[in-house]
Amino acid sequence: MLGLAGLPLGERFTFLDPDESAPAAAVGRLIQAAYDDRVALAEFASACDLATFEFEQVPAAAVERLVEAGVEVRPGARPLAVAQDRLEEKRLFERLGLAVPRFAPVDSAADLEAALTDLGAPAILKTRGGGYDGKGQLQVKRGGDSAAAVAELGGAGLIVEERVSFDRELSVIAVRARDGEVVVYPLIENTHRAGILRLSRAPAPFVDVDLQRRAEAHVRRVLEELDYVGVLAIELFQLGRDLLGNEMAPRVHNSGHWTIEGAETSQFENHVRAITGRPLGRTDARGESMMLNLIGEVSDPNALLRLGGHLHLYGKSPRPGRKLGHVTFTDTDPARLEDRVAEAARLVAQ
Ligand code: AMP
Repeated sequence: MLGLAGLPLGERFTFLDPDESAPAAAVGRLIQAAYDDRVALAEFASACDLATFEFEQVPAAAVERLVEAGVEVRPGARPLAVAQDRLEEKRLFERLGLAVPRFAPVDSAADLEAALTDLGAPAILKTRGGGYDGKGQLQVKRGGDSAAAVAELGGAGLIVEERVSFDRELSVIAVRARDGEVVVYPLIENTHRAGILRLSRAPAPFVDVDLQRRAEAHVRRVLEELDYVGVLAIELFQLGRDLLGNEMAPRVHNSGHWTIEGAETSQFENHVRAITGRPLGRTDARGESMMLNLIGEVSDPNALLRLGGHLHLYGKSPRPGRKLGHVTFTDTDPARLEDRVAEAARLVAQ
C-alpha cells in the first residue's frame, strides 16, 4: 500500500520481505530474504537511497546495516527501538505526560508475584518485545501459577500491566515532515477480537474538540521527542474523559487503512511525502468511514463489492487468524454506514 501510494508521486520501490508471497512484489522489485541476511541487505542498500519499514519487528541491526551502507532510514533506529520494547515505550509515554496502565517489569516468577500484589488482579503479562496482534500475552491473576506463566512467555524480558476496564479503544495517527510540520488524522475508534484489530471507525463518534486536542498533543510530543519523520500511530484506551497510552507503532497502521478512501490524503501517501521531503497532505475525513479487516478467509469478495465496499486483498494465502485484506465503507450517513458494515460483517463472519 505504501508502494501503491508512492508510484504516482514518481517514486520507485525495492522491497525486502522474508515472505515469498509478499504482496509488494506486484508493486516493485522484491528481494525475498530474512531481515538479517547480510547479502540481501547489501543488495537492498545498493538499490535504494532512502528506506522505511512497515513492520516494527524489523531487527534494529538491519536498520544499522543500511545506515552504514549509506541508506537513510526514516523514521529511524530510535523510534524502532522504543516501539520494540513495551517497557521503554511506557516510560517514554509517562515522561511525556501520557498516562499508561500501571505496569512493572518482570524477569522472574517472584517479580510477577510482587507485581500482582501491587497491581491487583487481573493483569496482563506480555513479552517486552516481539509481540503484536495479541501474541506474546497472557491474562494472569493472583493465586495462579506465576512460574508457568513466566516460563510460557520466555522466562524473562516481560512486563505485567493492570487490565484496564476501558470504555473503548482509540488510535491517533499523525505524520511529521522533515521540516517539523505535523498533521494529525481524526481520532479512530477500534474494535479488537482475540487481540486482532477487527473494525476501525473514523472519525470516531463522540469525540469533542477537547479529546481530539489532547490526543493530538500527546502524539505531537512523542513525534518531537523522537525527531520523527513519517507516520506514527499511538493506540489509546479511553476511560471516561481520560486517555491512557497502550502502545505506539512507528509506521503506517492498520487502523489508518480507511484513509485510502476516507481522507483527503491517505496515511500511505503522507508517509511517502514525509520521508521524501515533500509537503504533507491534508488529513481531513471526507465523510464517515468504517474499515473491516478480512481475517482467515474471504469466501465471497464480490458480495463486499456489491455492498459498495472498497476491497483490498493482499494476495496472501489463507490461514486461520491471518489478515488477508480489508474492506472500507464510506458514507455521509452514519446509520446507513453501520447497516452496510453490519451486512458486510455477516458476509465475512469470522
Ligand atoms: P497490545 O498488543 O498491547 O496492543 O494488546 C492487544 C489488545 O489487548 C489491545 O488492543 C487491547 O484490546 C488488549 N489489551 C492490551 N493491554 C491491555 C490492558 N492493559 N488492559 C486491557 N486490555 C488490554
